[in-house]
Amino acid sequence: MESLRRDLVIIGGGAAGLMAAAQISSILSEEGNSFNPSILLIEKMMRPGRKIGITGKGRCNLTNARMWDEFSVHVHPNQNFFKNAFYNFSSSDTMDFFRKLGLELTIERGQRVYPKSMKAQDVTDTLVRYIKRCKAVEISTEVSVVSVRAGESFMLTLSDGSVVESRMVLIATGGLSYPATGSTGDGYAFAEALGHTVTPRYPSLTALTPKEYKDNSDSPALAGWAKQLCGLQLKNVGLSLLINGNVAQEEFGDLDFTDGGIEGALGFRVSRKAVLSLSQGQKVSLVLDLKPSLSESQLKERIRRESSTGNNNIKYLLSKLLPRQMIQPFLTIHKNSLLMQSNSKSVEELPKLLKNTQFNIDSYVGYERCVVTNGGVSLSEISQKTMESKLQKGLYFAGEVIDLDGDTGGYNLQIAFSTASLAARSIVNEFKRES
Ligand SMILES: Cc1cc2nc3c(=O)[nH]c(=O)nc-3n(C[C@H](O)[C@H](O)[C@H](O)COP(=O)(O)OP(=O)(O)OC[C@H]3O[C@@H](n4cnc5c(N)ncnc54)[C@H](O)[C@@H]3O)c2cc1C
Repeated sequence: MESLRRDLVIIGGGAAGLMAAAQISSILSEEGNSFNPSILLIEKMMRPGRKIGITGKGRCNLTNARMWDEFSVHVHPNQNFFKNAFYNFSSSDTMDFFRKLGLELTIERGQRVYPKSMKAQDVTDTLVRYIKRCKAVEISTEVSVVSVRAGESFMLTLSDGSVVESRMVLIATGGLSYPATGSTGDGYAFAEALGHTVTPRYPSLTALTPKEYKDNSDSPALAGWAKQLCGLQLKNVGLSLLINGNVAQEEFGDLDFTDGGIEGALGFRVSRKAVLSLSQGQKVSLVLDLKPSLSESQLKERIRRESSTGNNNIKYLLSKLLPRQMIQPFLTIHKNSLLMQSNSKSVEELPKLLKNTQFNIDSYVGYERCVVTNGGVSLSEISQKTMESKLQKGLYFAGEVIDLDGDTGGYNLQIAFSTASLAARSIVNEFKRES
């Protein structure tokens, strides 16, 4: 069994691990340091940054250009914990960093930042190329860390049987979502073995599945009305999340129906609270407002005007009010109110129904397809000033493995980049102190 010694091992070559390696490389090269630490980044997949490659539908929404006051409301569960990391390396620092390395960026609706090329792979390539060019960090792939023990220094056992002894360790193993990218939650076990508490974890930014959406819960086959909805994308609608019948969140924007249920920007925004509530056994429902810019009385007036042409057939009226693809599922969902009674009674009901289509939610899509993990290594045991463990000297955390998650819009990658950069700065300070 081979044994190696390192000053630092970074476990995981995702967004956080690569950014930490890049920042350490950058600080070391800028400062012309006399010390020359030996640093190893271990990535279990064939290539680093596999998840970055699938972010933003392959375009990578790498950050959000909002300033702290507007950015912070999208960070959960504790914005304050994240403040230091963000001020040390903010979204504008992320943009400067990538631009300096030659990656052109573009800012879209909602301050979402993308590479101009619209290729997520360019983000990974920019990071990896820079790390390789600096030569301060060695990247080892296709080998995973199996266990981490603490003593005088850290002892890491790898999947090829070798053991690495290291003065410092940065755990950047990500969360549990999309396990095929390598993020299988290994870091939680390492943290627990080193004495840390890991808070309960749940899928977040995920599809919410309405009751009876599937023919039965064990089969992927969709029920008839769900088949009609699947693939439908609604723009500028309202969505309210009801917990035990009380409005817990109200959102406005775009929503998608997929084979998993209700998702898209709006569905994702309410999914964090919805999943937590379902896991606590609470009653969760979503109320869709298909005409959020009109009040019920304005809708009534609009319908009166449309039917004054002499045609007050429900399908005709709906064709004036809804996207074509929404008409049939709308009729199916509201068949008791619309098809089972007289036309004039149905017309009377229409404004209320257009503003209130209720879906009772009874499940959600799991880690195999959610965007991010809610929960992780407890914030109370990590220093927010350095990202160092409060329990183990020399142990650092960055990225999704920490109990921090963001909304959609570039917030999660910025959480990874900011926490990684702060950990990198603290680690270099430690190198300096010890040299
Ligand atoms: C489909 C999808 C789309 C997304 N889109 C966006 C977006 O557009 N914008 C945004 O801000 N966020 C997005 N996210 C979220 C974002 O990708 C993550 O929050 C972010 O990648 C977390 O970075 P990380 O480095 O902490 O973890 P990861 O990127 O998951 O990286 C962890 C790495 O550690 C490696 N690893 C794990 N265990 C071991 C081990 N034992 N030994 C060695 N290596 C190990 C893994 O192989 C992996 O490469 C998206 C997520 C998904 C799934």
